[in-house]
Amino acid sequence: LLVCRENRNDAWMLNTSGTIDLAWHEKDLTLVYSPVDLSAGDRIEFMYRLVGYDEDWKRVGHRRVAEYTNLPDGEYLFRIKASNGSGEWGEDAAEYRIRIGVPPWKTPSAYVVYVLGGFLLMFSVYTVAARRQSKALRKAEEERVRLEDLVRERTSELVQANRELAVLASRDTLTGLCNRRKFDETFAAEFFRAERFDRPLSLALGDIDQFKTLNDREGHLFGDQVLAAVAESLSAGIRSTDVLARWGGDEFALLMLETGTEEALAVVERLRRGLAEVGRRLGREISMSFGVAGKVGDETPENLMHRADEALLRAKREGRNRVVRGDFPE
Ligand code: GH3
Ligand code: MG
Repeated sequence: LLVCRENRNDAWMLNTSGTIDLAWHEKDLTLVYSPVDLSAGDRIEFMYRLVGYDEDWKRVGHRRVAEYTNLPDGEYLFRIKASNGSGEWGEDAAEYRIRIGVPPWKTPSAYVVYVLGGFLLMFSVYTVAARRQSKALRKAEEERVRLEDLVRERTSELVQANRELAVLASRDTLTGLCNRRKFDETFAAEFFRAERFDRPLSLALGDIDQFKTLNDREGHLFGDQVLAAVAESLSAGIRSTDVLARWGGDEFALLMLETGTEEALAVVERLRRGLAEVGRRLGREISMSFGVAGKVGDETPENLMHRADEALLRAKREGRNRVVRGDFPE
């Protein structure tokens, strides 16, 4: 048997049996055979079978060539029989083992590479997915922090704005003193506190004398200047526990905590005298009239207010620029 391989000039030469080892890519084979006994000559017929590939024996007559193309890798047995031309076939077939090698991609090491590659692929897919997820999480976290900061910032701005509003709502813009609204609140709260703990409390109401005339003569702007200067002078003369407010127009209210009537009268008298200095500074005569009332047991806040107001009216009536003590209720 002569075995010729595709694209190869060499050939295998075998006698009655043997093994042919071929590489995985040598799958196109031409097998040339010839009888051992050449005396029978041209009458000899052949049949062969490639066990593992051919289903059955192939009778090929006088042909002395067997061709196979594209054989899968594996082990085959090429068997060949000869007849002497009179129809008798030899018992023993010549046998040649043919082994076509496994292609590199089917070797065990290739499978190891596939498995490793698979793991590597899975690992990289997992890594990429995990990295993407953690990136998305980080982004979400950053966004959350940013929004929280924004909310905190806005909240503190709102708190600040509310504080400013509260101050605006409780202050008189011209003098910077408490306004009437704030004073009423404080007065109500302090009145009841004094009542509950049986503490002294006094209230004074004061009004600038002849302020209308001053306004008319000197102008509204000068009037404003006088109002601010009077507020400043009164503020400078009170104690830290006293609450001074612009009651409205040219009228001021002073609440004196822990202060009895006599002491309150003395405080207000001092404030009244202090206004002379304001007048000197502004070059005009400036004075105020005051009504002062100290809280007595069982009276209402309205009553205390009324007594202070009555006393103020009396101070005006009696010639202005004075402090008048409020009557006790009957
Ligand atoms: P009296 O001694 O009886 O108090 O006389 P008066 O002229 O002061 O009379 P009254 O207290 O009733 O007048 C208050 C005046 O105060 C009337 C008003 O034109 C003026 N006035 C009120 N608010 C303001 C203000 O914000 N600025 C100025 N410039 N004047 C004001
Ligand atoms: Mg007045």
